[in-house]
Amino acid sequence: MKITDVKVRNFRTHADFWDFGHGKLEPNAEYIQTLTTIDTDEGVSGHYIGGSMRGDHLGLNATEQEHLLHRARNLLIGQNPFDRELIWKWMWVANNIPENVWGVVDNALWDLAGNFAGLPVYKLMGGAQDRVKAYASTVPNMGSPDDYAKHALECKNKGYLAYKIHPHYFWDPHTRQPTPGRPSHVAVDIETCQAVRAAVGPDYVLMYDPWGTYMTFEDAVKVGRELERLDFYWYEHPMPETRVEMYAKLCRELDIPVLSPEIAAGGVFTRAEWILRDASDMTRIDVHRGGITGARKTCIVAEAYGIRCEVHMSGWANLHVIGATHEDTSEYYEKGLLAPGLPCEKAPPYLKERCDVIQPDGYIDMPKGPGLGYDINWDFIEDNLVNEPSNIFHTGRSPWRGSAS
Ligand SMILES: [Mg+2]
Repeated sequence: MKITDVKVRNFRTHADFWDFGHGKLEPNAEYIQTLTTIDTDEGVSGHYIGGSMRGDHLGLNATEQEHLLHRARNLLIGQNPFDRELIWKWMWVANNIPENVWGVVDNALWDLAGNFAGLPVYKLMGGAQDRVKAYASTVPNMGSPDDYAKHALECKNKGYLAYKIHPHYFWDPHTRQPTPGRPSHVAVDIETCQAVRAAVGPDYVLMYDPWGTYMTFEDAVKVGRELERLDFYWYEHPMPETRVEMYAKLCRELDIPVLSPEIAAGGVFTRAEWILRDASDMTRIDVHRGGITGARKTCIVAEAYGIRCEVHMSGWANLHVIGATHEDTSEYYEKGLLAPGLPCEKAPPYLKERCDVIQPDGYIDMPKGPGLGYDINWDFIEDNLVNEPSNIFHTGRSPWRGSAS
């Protein structure tokens, strides 16, 4: 079998977004999504939806499509689509092709292999979990400490087995205005953690992720000690991830497990270095930093050292990586990002169902269909095709937008 084409369909769709920069819901916002397809000479294809920035709910932008449809496409045409390892190696030597773009290629190749074999991707890799635990992961800038406390209780009552706070970034919860020069609001972050713990009770699992906005070691320690007192489960990405030695120092200073790196470039290689340097207690990866292949390799490295690799972000491909990894290594699926009024169980218009419908016991069932398991609404995509690539970051509004779809 040989790869004959790599193409991207751009189509217009809509979703309810959270405008992170202004801390408010943006209902029914229009945006451009992308469907990447790899075709073969035997009629089998693989697809991947999205792949830009924040997971599979954002289409590839113009620059990413340029990389995919020129240099990457030229390398791929004529290759055997089952040579994923060989193609994955090229990812790290083909200079100047962003790792999320190669991740899209790898994810589509896994979908293709699953479609050919008639198996879900996680079973093809070797199934470990048919159901995975879900935690509710909030949007940042969701409101006051009390708003978070009410939402946490609501999520607990819906069945979520854990709750993760993304607190306040570049936004003042008192004035509800953006604060571009002030990335963090430590005092109110601590109040938020206290309010949430008080609302959900002492035994509920809580996590915390200030997304690298603590600019000093002292702030990171101060919040970390409070999280220990409140018995939070993990402390994620507290400082910029360029400060690896400060992370090692923070791990020595605190008892609570530090979970990082989440957004550092370099996929499994960067994670392996962090593990060797004792710079984090748990590691983190997602499919946009080296594809399903790279994410699964990271889980295996973590397993070898007996540390957890908690998979970053939501979506079909990330879910399959967790399904192929034992819960001792990858325990939770990050459902979200969630906020009051942001629908999280509805399929986006271009799919007939979503991958991560939460069950009453707080688990998510792995997709059953072949490949990634997409049931694509082809009519919607064909009816909404556009020529231009994603323009989501060209709206003049904040790039800090998250979607539940
Ligand atoms: Mg995070």
